[in-house]
Amino acid sequence: MSFVKNGVNTQPIVDNVFSISRKAKEAAKKYGDDKVVNATIGSLYGEDGKLVALDTVYDSLKHVDNRNMAAYASSFTGNPDFKDELYAWVLNGNSKLAHEVIATPGGTGAVDMTISNCLSEGETLVMPSLAWGSYNLMAQMNNINTVKYDLFEGHHFNLNSFKEACQTAMKSQARLVVIINDPCHNPSGYSLSKEEWKEVVAFLNECSKTHSVVLLNDIAYIDFAYGQEQAKEYMATFDDISDNVVVVIAFSISKSMTSYGLRCGAAIVLGQSDEVIYEIKNVFEKNARATWSNINNGAMHMFVDVMKNHKEAYNEERVKYVKLLQERSDIFVKEAKEVGLKHYPYKEGFFITLSMDNETRDKYHEALMDNLIFTVKVNNGIRVGICSLTVDKTKGLAKRMKDILDTVA
Ligand code: PLP
Repeated sequence: MSFVKNGVNTQPIVDNVFSISRKAKEAAKKYGDDKVVNATIGSLYGEDGKLVALDTVYDSLKHVDNRNMAAYASSFTGNPDFKDELYAWVLNGNSKLAHEVIATPGGTGAVDMTISNCLSEGETLVMPSLAWGSYNLMAQMNNINTVKYDLFEGHHFNLNSFKEACQTAMKSQARLVVIINDPCHNPSGYSLSKEEWKEVVAFLNECSKTHSVVLLNDIAYIDFAYGQEQAKEYMATFDDISDNVVVVIAFSISKSMTSYGLRCGAAIVLGQSDEVIYEIKNVFEKNARATWSNINNGAMHMFVDVMKNHKEAYNEERVKYVKLLQERSDIFVKEAKEVGLKHYPYKEGFFITLSMDNETRDKYHEALMDNLIFTVKVNNGIRVGICSLTVDKTKGLAKRMKDILDTVA
């Protein structure tokens, strides 16, 4: 007896983050907060050990008129002023392409909308083997297969593996849909160089001679890239896409505005002409109507108010935390190097991931917990959320982790 659609995976969800985070909280209660390192959390925490909620964002939100909070959005694709401000913020003048913006519930909405509407059941999505877990789940829920590319060759983006994965997917279908989570990749903290992006675009243009290509660029962490405005310049490389390539940028205010619970973001569709993106925009609009209907109106009003009236203060406040994140990551990366603790190439962002095989990872993860260090298991690695660790707790952590690793490896 089954009450759900055929073929869907009915096993309970395994949430590696929340279950370990719960253990960390229990340990903190039992042994005291200062004894526990909870590196599981994927949200930004301040030096006070509490979730950061930017004043500029929440002061603005509290001043949104009650009726604007209460009302439906003015369109299924988002309020026009929100779409204009969001496009300007994300692209920052780095694009000449035709564009459409569709408001979504966070980056999750934008990524899932792209996967589920650009691929049919049984087709294959190209994604990194080291990746945010939800990509797999989204594919699974839509009965879509995945083929994975290795992110790294030495310390650089593995273009060859990316090409091979694309070629594999193209063998059996007419469309190619690829995810690149960049900059500040979750969980490695890698960001492609502009040269690497140029190579990706050139290759996708080759693919587009025989296949329609959708490049899904998940930029969830972009506003915490250490280069700030410079980190958006790679988007100019999209100007060179062929007529048979569309770029969907998945943006979220979850991280950018420390607004995880407001569920607001957007898919920005870019193409060489309005005709190219006409079809995808129509389908995304109908998908929005058919699933979430419309997006949190108060959040959209807040975004517009911050962009129009408080941008400088918002940038100042946010950049303070970007610098804090950099301070924490500098400490961890430097100390890891000193003690020989291996991690994937890290440039910026919320997470640093130690590299190891899955067998070692499983033993190590347990051993870390025995020592009150709580982390997240990822494919061939252990994710350390420096976004939620204070500077104090970051200091000396790499050495402690290396010592524990030596007991299991
Ligand atoms: N993409 C990546 C890589 C993420 O890590 C996350 C959140 O953790 C998201 C997208 C989407 O987050 P949200 O739906 O809250 O915007």
